[in-house]
Amino acid sequence: MEKWKNGIAKLTVPTPFAVGDVHCYLIKGDRLTLVDAGVKTDEAWEALQVQLAELKLTPEDIEQVILTHHHPDHVGLLHYLPKTIEVYAHPLNERWLKRTESFSAEHDDFYLRLYQQFGVPREYLAPTINEMKKNLRYSSECSLAGYLLENDVPSGLEGWRVLETHGHAQGHIALWREEDGILIGGDVLLAHISPNPILEPPYPGETERPKPQLQYNQTLKKLQEYPISLVYAGHGQDFTGTGPLIDNRLSRQHDRAMKVKSMVEEEPKTAFEICQSLFPTVYQKELNLTISETAAQLDYLMSLEEIAVVEEGPSLLYVAK
Ligand SMILES: [Zn+2]
Repeated sequence: MEKWKNGIAKLTVPTPFAVGDVHCYLIKGDRLTLVDAGVKTDEAWEALQVQLAELKLTPEDIEQVILTHHHPDHVGLLHYLPKTIEVYAHPLNERWLKRTESFSAEHDDFYLRLYQQFGVPREYLAPTINEMKKNLRYSSECSLAGYLLENDVPSGLEGWRVLETHGHAQGHIALWREEDGILIGGDVLLAHISPNPILEPPYPGETERPKPQLQYNQTLKKLQEYPISLVYAGHGQDFTGTGPLIDNRLSRQHDRAMKVKSMVEEEPKTAFEICQSLFPTVYQKELNLTISETAAQLDYLMSLEEIAVVEEGPSLLYVAK
């Protein structure tokens, strides 16, 4: 493991998910800050403590945690960390971290109705929604000591700025250091994979769901405006060269959307039917992830007015324009 470099130390812990290990980062600032907090397993907790010890630190030395987003592999170790450590994140993570009964009901209702609109067959509905909840056993509940928004300088981290990077998660942020262009990116940019544009319920008080792929593309275009020298990512390798990587991601997503457009041109289809064609071998096993990837292409094509939607009973049919 690398020790301190650029005032940052990378701590890598295992996860039970297909994505593999997740990285958390310690930043030496006026406050010792941990960015992201692994997954709630004994193995991850053990790994974190061993790596802290190599740096001659203990969990009690951590003064604050900043979360890039609320997904279990980025928050779970909060369960084991001292409860006195202050946790900061974008406010849209809060509903996932507090998990009130009313949000839980809203959550299930949202996905049930959305998946019906997408034409997901009845027998898949309950198991697919339950699958989402199962992952929560690797997550942790917590309350936030404060919120982080665009351009905020987190307390004790002079020189660092918060960039809102919505898309993969609604409350996703990254930390960028102006002086040397280092980005601690969470899942916003990964060297080896494109993060899933995960569907989330409408914001509190709103009725329309957000369109994560459109937000993610905006995020990528925004990141193109920043001089980024090096990305410390949530998964996989550190990397440079974000410019060409972002161009590549945007053009590959466009190509995938155009493939979806041609499917719809053959005949009108539901999102579920498109999902089956796009992911014939995995859609049953990974319906949540493949349906969000499918919805991403449909949202994108709708935004370009390349396709339209018509209601057919409880489901929506996508048609060529
Ligand atoms: Zn994530």
